Amino acid sequence: MQTGTLFTVSAPSGAGKTSLVKALVDSDSQVTVSVSHTTRPMRPGERDGVNYHFVDRDAFVEMLNRNAFLEHAQVFDNFYGTSREWVEQTLASGRDVILEIDWQGAAQVRRLLPDTVGIFILPPSQQALRERLTGRGQDEQSVIEKRMAQAIDEMSHYVEADYLVINDNFDEALRELRAIVTAQRSRLQCQQQRHGALLEALLHH
Ligand code: GDP
Ligand code: ADP
Ligand code: 5GP
Repeated sequence: MQTGTLFTVSAPSGAGKTSLVKALVDSDSQVTVSVSHTTRPMRPGERDGVNYHFVDRDAFVEMLNRNAFLEHAQVFDNFYGTSREWVEQTLASGRDVILEIDWQGAAQVRRLLPDTVGIFILPPSQQALRERLTGRGQDEQSVIEKRMAQAIDEMSHYVEADYLVINDNFDEALRELRAIVTAQRSRLQCQQQRHGALLEALLHH
């Protein structure tokens, strides 16, 4: 039974993980991104079911109680969680899955599923991070200050990842992200699952 690879992509808010993951997923039909549930208010331009499943606290707690989340965490003042069923079904269908989740969530997933590949994205400088958060123009100044302060905590967890990408030049960072996904797919175990019949035929006398 062929199963896909599970990736976590973590980064401080504003490092560019959403833009990079979107560019990757748009150009590679084998990899899909999980849509998280969140209690955070919707930003202008966001759509329910596309960027997130936006739910209120009661709905979130109800899902938590019936074990609907593979992982969940509180980030800033909001709760975030990953749908267990969607991830399991998508992996079982053979597609790779990316979870764009904070370091707490990545640690939970790694404990649960040790084959998970952890990717961390960092900005080229603190100044660039601040500019991107401001430039995105979607959060209030007080929210940006809060996110800046927490960014340094989040960044300190880069050491827990398997791969590190510095998002300075966007296209270069995207190439590196693609290379990580491709390398992972070429691992012997993945290739044996994917090309079982071929490998058997090649070794047939
Ligand atoms: P952004 O990072 O600036 O785009 O802001 P968001 O509000 O979209 O995300 C805030 C943080 O929550 C980021 O660190 C995300 O990685 C994290 N996050 C998003 N979805 C999930 C999830 O399902 N689980 C966990 N644990 N973290 C999540
Ligand atoms: P995150 O999901 O990590 O919070 P986003 O993908 O929303 O980050 O990116 C934050 C902002 O930075 C967006 O406005 C995005 O267009 C911009 N951005 C992302 N990568 C780069 C880059 N390499 N150079 C300049 N700006 C970038
Ligand atoms: P509160 O409003 O008391 O902070 O949280 C309400 C409910 O959210 C609690 O009953 C708790 O079970 C639930 N909850 C869901 N996710 C989390 C989490 O990541 N951390 C914490 N502390 N509580 C959570």
